[in-house]
Amino acid sequence: MGKGERDDAPAAGQTDCSEALLRVYEFLDGELGPSECAKIQAHLDECGPCFNEYNLDTTLKSLIKRSCANEHAPDTLRTAIMARISLSVFRVEGG
Ligand SMILES: [Zn+2]
Repeated sequence: MGKGERDDAPAAGQTDCSEALLRVYEFLDGELGPSECAKIQAHLDECGPCFNEYNLDTTLKSLIKRSCANEHAPDTLRTAIMARISLSVFRVEGG
């Protein structure tokens, strides 16, 4: 009897889109370490859907890049991006 089970878990080392979005939020909160930061950067680098689905843009990308390089991001920019992501998260959760 074959059950035909499928493994739906993401491959090890991969970050899926919804997780990436949550990480971005934590990142903006200043809760992520350099390795997590690099993971997000890598995901956003190769994932177009993230930008389309969540209305992210290159501003966010460059903000993450700068933070990964230990540069200080302007508070106004951080706040603006955070507000936008909050809206996206609500939209995703609300269907
Ligand atoms: Zn993605």
